[in-house]
Formats: sequence, C-alpha cells, structure tokens
Amino acid sequence: MIIIDKVSEIKQLIIEKKSQNLIIGFVPTMGALHQGHISLIERAKKECDVVVSSIFVNPTQFNDSKDFEKYPRTLDIDSKMLEKAGCHILFAPNVKEIYDNEELKTTPIDLGFLDQTLEGEKRPGHYSGVVTIVEKLFKITLPDKVYMGLKDFQQVLVVKKLIEIKHLNIEIIGCETLRDPDGLAMSSRNTRLSIEERTTALQLSKCLYYIKSQKLLENPVKIIEKAKKLYLTHPNLNLEYLELRNSKDLTKIDLNNWETNIEYVVLIAAFIGDVRLIDNLII
Ligand code: AMP
Repeated sequence: MIIIDKVSEIKQLIIEKKSQNLIIGFVPTMGALHQGHISLIERAKKECDVVVSSIFVNPTQFNDSKDFEKYPRTLDIDSKMLEKAGCHILFAPNVKEIYDNEELKTTPIDLGFLDQTLEGEKRPGHYSGVVTIVEKLFKITLPDKVYMGLKDFQQVLVVKKLIEIKHLNIEIIGCETLRDPDGLAMSSRNTRLSIEERTTALQLSKCLYYIKSQKLLENPVKIIEKAKKLYLTHPNLNLEYLELRNSKDLTKIDLNNWETNIEYVVLIAAFIGDVRLIDNLII
C-alpha cells in the first residue's frame, strides 16, 4: 500500500491509474478504523481495480470543537489494517494540506430538508462540513465508485444529493452496517465508552430491533412510545431522537398507520455519558 499525504502526489498517481482505464473505488474515513470500515474496503476490492482510502478528521464537520479534539487518532494501527485488507492507496493529509489558506471555509450548497432534519437539525453546519470535504476528496481522488456505510444513513443521502447537484459521474454504494455480536453498531466512538456505558449503548440497537419486530402489530406511534419506555429510560442515556421515516428521503410519515408502499427506516441518536452515538435500521 502506498501512503501519501500530499495532494499533488496523489493527484499525479490517480491520473496515471485513470490513464490505464482502471476503475477507482474510494472509501473516505476519519480513521480509528474498525471492521465496519474494513468491510467497505473489502467490497471496493471486489468491484474496483484500485482501492483508495482516506483518513482525515475533518474539522469543519464537527459542530462541537471538543468532539473534534477528542476524536480518536490511530494512524499507525489504521494503516496496518488497511494494508492487511488490501487497500492500494492511503491518503492521509493534514488539515493545512486540505484547507490550505481557506481558513476552514465550507462550500455553500443547498441540501434542503436533509440539512434541516435529524442530524442536520441536531448538528448545525455538520453537513456543510461533510459535503465540503467529500467534494474536495472527490476532486483529488477522481473515484468511479464511492463506498459509504448505511450506519450514517443520512450522510449517504446527503452525498447522493451532492453528486446530483454537481452532476458528478460517481456511483455511490451504501453498505450494510457491521455490528458487534451483541448488536452494537461498530463506531470509532465506541472506544470512548466505559464498560458500563457500552452496556447502556446496547439499548439503542435493542430498541431498533424491537421496533422492527413489532411492525404491523400495532400502529407506529404506539410502538415507538413502548420502545422508548422499554429501552431508553436509563439515566445515563440522553435521547436526542427516535424517528420513523421514509427511507427514500427521510420525510416524515403518517404515524397512525403502516403503509405497504413505503420502505421505513427507524433512526436513533443519543448521548451515552458524553459520547454521541447514532444508529438506524430499515424495517
Ligand atoms: P467515519 O470514519 O466514521 O467517518 O466512517 C467512514 C465510513 O465508514 C462512513 O461511510 C461510515 O458510514 C462507514 N462506517 C462507519 N461505521 C460503520 C459500520 N459499523 N459498518 C459499516 N460502515 C461503517
């Protein structure tokens, strides 16, 4: 695996690969890698000639600067994991290399409802930061296919929208969420949980699977109420939202009935202590 931290160097290498008509698959990450990230690399390996991954903790997508500072940084271990998984190129620039003299400016782009609901609403400015970095990385790595986790369900829709608005010729592939055997969605933030907090965090996925198991048995509003009472009352769990939405665009739905022509997704965000976790499930 080739490790590069300079924009000019990776651009040159990518142009070389492109001139050989090789399919470029790209996996953007913020590092602190786990098996969930590696599953994206493995999928990209199956479908592309050249797999490029990036590790960049992007300051503009953190609405809370403490969260940015506390974000785990484990570049040495990460690069070993990527190499083992067969990644070909790792791009790991520093902040100055990416934002240059732009003083951490974000690209103005109208994401509409996606920026006003759920993560967009709870983390103002988060998606402007995401689209800014993703667009920059796309311009550098020129991918044909991009692999992103459905763990960040709304993020996949946001990046799809970016591709549509900017008319980019990139296919985005949303990949299944990898979970620990007990159901907890893998996340770089899990390393910040104490043993007790990790046990509490399990309530999130339990709650999602409970809602799935109850689908059609009662109306949605009642099931959500019960799920909150059953799983989300722990004193160290601070719920931000538990929402049932249309998976196509996250629009709100009638919570009094189940409709056969809608694919539903249930999304949750909560603080466990001071660690903010998200998860979701198509039901
Ligand atoms: P992050 O480093 O958290 O920005 O994540 C980088 C990519 O890995 C994003 O596309 C995430 O959605 C994806 N990802 C994170 N956690 C998981 C997981 N548990 N399973 C699959 N993909 C994941």
